[in-house]
Amino acid sequence: MQIARCGSRLLLIVLCCGFAAAAQDASSPAAQPAMSTSVSSSPASVQSSERSVPPATLNEVLDRVVQREHFFMAQMRHMHPLVETYLQSLKTDSTGHNIPVNDRYFLGRLEMSDGPEDISFVGQPGFGQRMLSKLTGVYSLHYLPMGFAQMVFLDSDFQKKYYKFNFVRREFLGELRCLVIDVQPREGDRTPRFKGRIWVEDQDYNIVRFNGTYDPQPKINFFFHFDSWRLNMRPGVWLPAYVYTEESDLKTGLTRTLHFKAQTRLWGYDLKGLNKNEEFTQILVDSQDSVRDQSEATADPSPVVAQRMWEKQAEDNAIERLQKIGLLAPPGEVDKVLATVVNNLLVTNNIDLQGDFHCRVLLTSPLESFTIGHTIVMSRGLLDVLPDEASLAMVLAHELAHIVLGHPFDTKLAFNDKLFFPDQDSFRRLDFRHSPADEEAADVKAIEMLKNSPYKDKLANAGLFLKALQDKAPDLPNLIRPHLGNSFASAKSIRMTALLTSAPQLDDKKLDQIAALPLGGRIKVDPWSDQVELSKSKQVALTSRWEKMEFEVTPFFPNLTRLSTGPEKVALTTSDSGTVAK
Ligand SMILES: [Zn+2]
Repeated sequence: MQIARCGSRLLLIVLCCGFAAAAQDASSPAAQPAMSTSVSSSPASVQSSERSVPPATLNEVLDRVVQREHFFMAQMRHMHPLVETYLQSLKTDSTGHNIPVNDRYFLGRLEMSDGPEDISFVGQPGFGQRMLSKLTGVYSLHYLPMGFAQMVFLDSDFQKKYYKFNFVRREFLGELRCLVIDVQPREGDRTPRFKGRIWVEDQDYNIVRFNGTYDPQPKINFFFHFDSWRLNMRPGVWLPAYVYTEESDLKTGLTRTLHFKAQTRLWGYDLKGLNKNEEFTQILVDSQDSVRDQSEATADPSPVVAQRMWEKQAEDNAIERLQKIGLLAPPGEVDKVLATVVNNLLVTNNIDLQGDFHCRVLLTSPLESFTIGHTIVMSRGLLDVLPDEASLAMVLAHELAHIVLGHPFDTKLAFNDKLFFPDQDSFRRLDFRHSPADEEAADVKAIEMLKNSPYKDKLANAGLFLKALQDKAPDLPNLIRPHLGNSFASAKSIRMTALLTSAPQLDDKKLDQIAALPLGGRIKVDPWSDQVELSKSKQVALTSRWEKMEFEVTPFFPNLTRLSTGPEKVALTTSDSGTVAK
């Protein structure tokens, strides 16, 4: 995929780590102590005084680590990021390799004014049914209310007296020099506490990564193993961004064993920044003349123009709402890459769209694409797994076809009261699905456009992607289930079936046949600003077919960087293990 258009500006970060399923009761690790007021000292003042006198002993280092961790907990009380967990249950096949056989999806907003809790976006009804499965049973009973939140906290009452510490070595994580310290709860402490290893950056002594579990295990519930990462999102501010979790033999009963891997991502920390009222600013700087000119131009729209304006109003309302919630990335570089592909389709088909079109990125993992009026939306997860530009063009061609064919779009959102609903109801209240007939018509039109396009000789690749998707659909229903648009594929049907016939056979053993990528290899999200950019990770040659990991989750190894002077200097990049594209 030749999308190499990343600007030299900074950006993003993607990391991840692991998490724990925590009980909701007293067995939660050191649950919710009152935060002492002393932690509210500003990070700047703490840093300047501390940096002047570096700690001389491990004991002094630990004092600072504890102090910074309390400051972190105090900060988190004011943060309300989105938390998404995508989990794949695994089965070991006859060759000893693990393959996903089922999946789970969770999206919520973290609220911890009274201790960690999260508000679910993906609805309880589905969860009620899925409680029947053994894994979700654990989730529903013990994981849902607190588990997702818990995994980003080391210990909400982190104190030296509760732990034994062993300095291991110094080590670089990305560009950060870190102190690596093993941490164990003291014997006899019945409160579940963190047990594992922490990485502490050696300038301000923030914990930037911790890896382990909580101990002791409670009798009824389970703590998972997790690898949890924090990013430097603002000067002096390190916040959770990624958690990777994996269990291969967690016994949950005499005969039941949990075997899964999961990625948790947090973003949407600065929703206030995303909501700033830019139009108001714009009016203030407009000259009187330009305001007058504009009003004359739009004075008496014809009925047709009025209808278009009405549709545009509904479109703008929906887009604005999705961005405010933190589900849609702000406009950015990736949109332009998508728009270039759409333009290629338009130009080579001599199509003159009435009105503009836009492309935007939905920040969630499930694979979906849809249109809102003249805006094409693609999810981060879908962008991640597409193997090349022809496959991308295939997805965009289908959505563009809806626009070209003028398929209807529900304009009820042009009434502003329709947008007065709680964030967590978004998936229920917003619906951008087309009718089955329109879906079919869009497929036909899309194929026609693709056959005239620069992608016409590479459509076999797109067909190969569809084959892989169809192959995996029965095992990954939650990855493929859309939340806002039409389903891309199911066990029974798939979009653009005409492309399947031209595709080669799926062949696992051919290392140069890349039908789909793992999640996380393509798009990087800035958890603070929600900006997305294309990952600059180097693609590597595969050494075995097991490294294809199509549609799978993988661990995260972000290239950590410290912010220097201001947010414009952010330079966190990822060199994660997920990229295997050619
Ligand atoms: Zn469609």
